[in-house]
Amino acid sequence: MAYLFETFTGWQTYCKKHKVSLVQSVIDYEISEKGATREAIMAGVAANYQVMKEAVATGFSEDMTSRSGMINNSAKKVYHSKKTVLSPQFQQLVARALSAKEVNSCMGRVVAAPTAGASGIMPGVLYTLQELHNLPDEKMHEALLLAAGIALIIEHQSSLAGAVGGCQAETGSAAAMAAGAIVYCLGGRTEEIFNAVAITIQCMLGLVCDPVAGLVEVPCVVRNASAAAIANSAAQIALAGVDSVIPVDECVEAMGEVGESMENRYKETALGGLATTKTGRQIAKRVLIRDIDILPDQES
Ligand code: SF4
Repeated sequence: MAYLFETFTGWQTYCKKHKVSLVQSVIDYEISEKGATREAIMAGVAANYQVMKEAVATGFSEDMTSRSGMINNSAKKVYHSKKTVLSPQFQQLVARALSAKEVNSCMGRVVAAPTAGASGIMPGVLYTLQELHNLPDEKMHEALLLAAGIALIIEHQSSLAGAVGGCQAETGSAAAMAAGAIVYCLGGRTEEIFNAVAITIQCMLGLVCDPVAGLVEVPCVVRNASAAAIANSAAQIALAGVDSVIPVDECVEAMGEVGESMENRYKETALGGLATTKTGRQIAKRVLIRDIDILPDQES
């Protein structure tokens, strides 16, 4: 089977030609690449979705204080806040994305979708969507496969790593995957799915990777929440039939171009942006001193 996931246009053309759905094409690809059965692939996807849901639950039920202290149970605070900005569902979406990501920052078990730094976005979005629309698990599993196809193309054309393309590549890609998944679950057409991906990328373009003290905590956790919100707004726009104007493949290309031109200090090096603010530097110093203090005595 020829490599399918080079461009969105190519993916769509392949599916039309072979009369298969986007999701089925990902399954076929997995079968041909890994020699796995359909049952084994679907079981793997189901297991991953279960881990995502457990991560959301863990963030709410266990203490989520990171070693640095920068992460301190923000998901619980948002979930139980008496002040609701839009709707209880929006509040839950934000809280769930925070929750799963906090589990990652506290060294818990998550699904890197597509990376650990962006591991709160898909769980927050899918969990909330499923609950709101009473969708069966099978639909969510299909949505995860569709999202995997989206990620493969972005990785091929641009990057999924903050160290290569900045945060746009990590949280931006996760948000694009989530937006496509939402539109798919709500019965959107291929064009609408791709528009949602394109609109999300347009909204996340240029975001730098600047983790304070080099830890995947600040701003990573809150960016997962905002990316989840953007995924939903992009899906809403696309489902209304609004065109992205710039086709999705060109948006991905633009992301690659912006990532390439980004200075290294904005690519997970903690040498720019929030990481080098006065407070960011103070935190980095404190974390470093504490880590040296707890190193085993080399001379004993
Ligand atoms: S700031 Fe960097 S480390 Fe944090 S989520 Fe974004 S890409 Fe990942």
